[in-house]
Amino acid sequence: MGFMGSFDAVDDRLRRWIARHRRVFALTGAGCSTASGIPDYRDDRGEWKRRPPVMILAFRTQDAVYRRYWARAYAGWPRLTSAAPNAAHRAFAQWESAGTLHHVVTQNVDGLHQRAGSRAVVDLHGRLDVVVCLGCGARTSRSALQDAIAAANPDWRAEAVTAPDGDADIDARVIESFVPPRCEACGDLLKPDVVFFGENVPTERYEHAREALGRADALLVAGSSLMVYSGFRFVRLAREAGLPIAIVNRGRTRGDDLAELKVERDVGTALAGAVAAIA
Ligand SMILES: [Zn+2]
Repeated sequence: MGFMGSFDAVDDRLRRWIARHRRVFALTGAGCSTASGIPDYRDDRGEWKRRPPVMILAFRTQDAVYRRYWARAYAGWPRLTSAAPNAAHRAFAQWESAGTLHHVVTQNVDGLHQRAGSRAVVDLHGRLDVVVCLGCGARTSRSALQDAIAAANPDWRAEAVTAPDGDADIDARVIESFVPPRCEACGDLLKPDVVFFGENVPTERYEHAREALGRADALLVAGSSLMVYSGFRFVRLAREAGLPIAIVNRGRTRGDDLAELKVERDVGTALAGAVAAIA
């Protein structure tokens, strides 16, 4: 589904759509964070750009997968922590302050909505800055774990990373020499507190988001191709409830046929103007 007319006409339709609704539920995805330097894993057609993310079963059961994951994650962390909120995150925070954005449910795990000042945020897929033990369930901070990893790998060359898009590509020899972290309390495997492929969104978190959608009068999808079902199901729920749906995304999405408005633009560019008009 393409769009008709000029950018200006589409922007005006988005402005009017935002001005028309009082309790908007926004679902945001990778396209909100790409301008912050955090890579999107899918291209405009919804295809994987590089390798797909690690599957939970392989992570739990294969030492080599576990080691490779943590070597790349450890090396890529400085880039993630140096990322700053962009115009998209600022627009959502401003919209919430204006009073008509009810909730942001994000598929992103970078915490940038909160850093931009948004308060009513559900991190649907968790947060990278928290680590959970798969054995005892202990939760710790990622930055503390980074220090522990550094101490256990004093001579390891994280700069062997050759990652133009941030998805740390380290050669096999370097990865083999990496000592992956273990839980300090019980010795079991550690995982960032994010939903891996093959895992479900925790029930309580999903219910919280669903209740928020139940109190909303419209759904805006921003920067997501909706290829992951945990996000797409909110579009289906909104449709079943008869809520108007708008989508801002460069490239097609799985929800295009269900939306009354589709804006093929960068999220920050499209939202900044539209939100400024109501604030
Ligand atoms: Zn443990």
